[in-house]
Amino acid sequence: MTATIWSTYGYRITSTYGWRSDPFTGNRTWHTGIDLVKSHQAPILSFTEGIVLHARMGVAGSGFGGFGNVVAIQANDGALLCYAHLDSIMVQTGQVVKAGQTIGTQGSTGRSTGSHLHFEVRSRSTPSYGFKTDTHPETYLLKTMKTETTTKPIPISIQNKYICNGTYLNGITYAPLRLLGERLGANITWNGVSAAVNGKHVSEAKMKDGQLYVPVRVFEQLLHVKVNWTGKEIYITT
Ligand SMILES: [Zn+2]
Repeated sequence: MTATIWSTYGYRITSTYGWRSDPFTGNRTWHTGIDLVKSHQAPILSFTEGIVLHARMGVAGSGFGGFGNVVAIQANDGALLCYAHLDSIMVQTGQVVKAGQTIGTQGSTGRSTGSHLHFEVRSRSTPSYGFKTDTHPETYLLKTMKTETTTKPIPISIQNKYICNGTYLNGITYAPLRLLGERLGANITWNGVSAAVNGKHVSEAKMKDGQLYVPVRVFEQLLHVKVNWTGKEIYITT
């Protein structure tokens, strides 16, 4: 189970949550999150829906000292999900983000020995952004996914005309790329291992029932359309 959930999102684990030997001092220290790697400057997507409470360099004494560039998102259940050592930040404090939305890129800012994502879940967001209320990130996500997962289809329309259904997987809403892309006049190519839209490589794509799906936020960027999501339905406007 441990490796599976993270690999679903395209990560490999380089350090788990809990006691470990500190990479700088060698002392036995508590690792307050999990270290995950895609590749340097790869897009980091929010695991959950929520509101951005912090989106800048972590300042000493704030609860994020040494964390480098940190995006902290308060999920609907009140937990604070922290994405640290980011190379760049793509959201602002106060912004509402969807699960699967790109919030920054993987980096090595702050107290870090190499490019990775330090992902931490805090059960509270005050004081000091809930510093020292860290909880097991995997247990938290599995619990959250379970309560969020639905088998209900998500209708997708273009200019208010129903086209097809999207699918929901591990907190991220996916749209079928070829069906919608071709409706929007894009040239979709697929060589069996990777897809391209108008010649541009598609990351984060998944095969399901013989169809190629991409997260709706990725779709929005690739096709240069506006995607509105009510939580039950998806509206695409050109
Ligand atoms: Zn870490």
